[in-house]
Amino acid sequence: MILLNMNENNTCPFCNTDILDYAFLESNNFLAVYNIAPVLPGHSLIIPRVHFTSFMELSDGELYEFISFSRKAIRILSGVFQTESFNWILQEKEEAGQTIAHMHIHIIPRKPGDMPEPGDWYPRWKNNISHLIDSNQRPRLSRDEMKTIVDRLRKAAADAVS
Ligand SMILES: [Zn+2]
Repeated sequence: MILLNMNENNTCPFCNTDILDYAFLESNNFLAVYNIAPVLPGHSLIIPRVHFTSFMELSDGELYEFISFSRKAIRILSGVFQTESFNWILQEKEEAGQTIAHMHIHIIPRKPGDMPEPGDWYPRWKNNISHLIDSNQRPRLSRDEMKTIVDRLRKAAADAVS
């Protein structure tokens, strides 16, 4: 797995090669990575390998690859986390809640009763600032916990291809 470029001052957490440790699926232009501080079990991110800031920058070809790749990631998460219910969340620009200027969508597996209301992911996401994948200020999974879940997802991804 590779990142295709780094942003200029390397402050973007998604342009940091550490992110590759959390990736469980890849295509030519996209990676699926497990969120180190998941709002719910299975909470993952789809990110482009290059530093696009906006969904609107994708070419038609990249857009197709992005959606098709996201569905593939969902099939893997669906098997591992045993559900067919998911939130796909794209926050476009700061006013909409985008906090990292590198385009990404959140994929969150859902189960009956996992939250009082289906939309309660937002306050939870906002309160524990779990979207800040590079932050040391909120609870995060340990290195061992991350390795266990990422290895499990990578195995499911390999099994899905073969
Ligand atoms: Zn970036």
